[in-house]
Amino acid sequence: MSAGAQILVVEDNEKNMKLFRDVLLAAGYRTLEATTGGEAVALALEHSPDLVLMDIQLPDIDGVEALGRLRADGRTASVPVLALTAQAMEGDRERFLAAGFDGYISKPVNVADFVSTVKRYCESHSRSTS
Ligand code: MN
Repeated sequence: MSAGAQILVVEDNEKNMKLFRDVLLAAGYRTLEATTGGEAVALALEHSPDLVLMDIQLPDIDGVEALGRLRADGRTASVPVLALTAQAMEGDRERFLAAGFDGYISKPVNVADFVSTVKRYCESHSRSTS
């Protein structure tokens, strides 16, 4: 059951953040929002969200570094983290999976695909932790 799941959205682009927020709230999720990598790590450690959507290019530490910090802490080590990036270049998917991301969403997002991907990862996380 993923209804009401809490999703941490890490995105420094205001327009993208608004879209993700609107779509996730409409789908019944609760959101936490961070615009920097440092803020993302602090919020994740405090709230242990059900899923993290992590932009790669951020103003301070990048999404890969932020992911490393989450994986290094027992409170967030097993939280699913999806890379959220515009770098839709050949080989990027493999690069982000190798870095430890659970999956990958490329921007601009297709809203229906975005929601179904979020739903899938929230459900797999709640199964694995129940
Ligand atoms: Mn960015």
